[in-house]
Amino acid sequence: MTPLQALLAQRIALNGPITLADYMADCLMHPKFGYYATRDPFGADGDFTTAPEISQMFGELIGLCLAQTWIDQGAPSAFTLAEIGPGRGTLMADALRATKGVAGFHDAASVHFIETSATLRKRQAGAVPNATWHDDISTLPAAPLYLVANEFFDALPIRQFTRNDAGWREHMVGVLGDTLILGLSAPAPIALLDDRISDTKTGDIVEHCPALPGIVSTISDMIETYGGAALIIDYGDWHSLGDTLQALQNHSTANPFANAGNADLTAHVDFEAIAKAAKTHTKLTPQGVFLERLGITSRAQTLAKGLTDTALEAHISAHRRLAHPIEMGGLFKVIGLYPSTGKPPPGLEP
Ligand code: SAH
Repeated sequence: MTPLQALLAQRIALNGPITLADYMADCLMHPKFGYYATRDPFGADGDFTTAPEISQMFGELIGLCLAQTWIDQGAPSAFTLAEIGPGRGTLMADALRATKGVAGFHDAASVHFIETSATLRKRQAGAVPNATWHDDISTLPAAPLYLVANEFFDALPIRQFTRNDAGWREHMVGVLGDTLILGLSAPAPIALLDDRISDTKTGDIVEHCPALPGIVSTISDMIETYGGAALIIDYGDWHSLGDTLQALQNHSTANPFANAGNADLTAHVDFEAIAKAAKTHTKLTPQGVFLERLGITSRAQTLAKGLTDTALEAHISAHRRLAHPIEMGGLFKVIGLYPSTGKPPPGLEP
């Protein structure tokens, strides 16, 4: 039994079952025992890998996309270049290297990271030394905002509900002996799911991410007021339906209720919820299409010239993994948030 499991079992025995969102929040972000608080989970030795860790091309193209958006918006003289949930800081390091030659971009930029994990903040400081760190987006400066979030929203805690003839039954985490188990609350009407009555039937499961609307509305408010854009990249679909909670440990799926704090927990992102919460315009595109439009193939060919043997094979397979429709290219989507007076960032439209 993990120390977090013991702590949660004791708390639940005293106070009763907790929501899935409360469970996920502690598993991922508990300051002492949380998954992200206690480790660097990325790469071949970790539990999973992400696009910026697969190839430098990902961060480079994101950086160039944001720089072109900045130019298209008149190159504002002081702006925030921000990332939420930067992991190892690889994406931003690649983005900054790729945009060195964009006249005035670095002079006008100040780099801001939003990260709760102290362990990962140290790692990020190694990759990008001159950043400013924030616990949440509320303290970002009042300035044009060019922001990226890759695999951040899937780590936000979700609540789950099963539809029933009398309303919704919430999925709650309870305890049996030392074991954490999933149970269902008594059915009740849930106001925040009123818009799901027409498209669901008894027995259907829906998910709701409580933190998402506030985060998206704050980011989009800043973009609408001061200018800028956000690129939110993740796996998921338009309109959530079904149970998408997943635990990953050592690159394999695991039971989300065993090993609390030692497995990564994620859920698919509901891009419709992002579009609904945004006060800006939004545009959704599959990751592969987005990267192809930004020129990943010609960048891949340039990089391939310096490679041979296994390094070349790894590079070719990284390109395929990021861009091919049956791999991350189709599974992952990019939603761009941009001012209602402007045009979408490059890559989101033909
Ligand atoms: N973007 C990186 C890492 C993705 S993993 C990559 O693509 O490799 C999720 C990241 O979000 C981690 O850095 C994690 O510590 C951070 N994170 C998770 N929940 C957070 C929260 N509520 N606030 C800020 N950062 C959070």
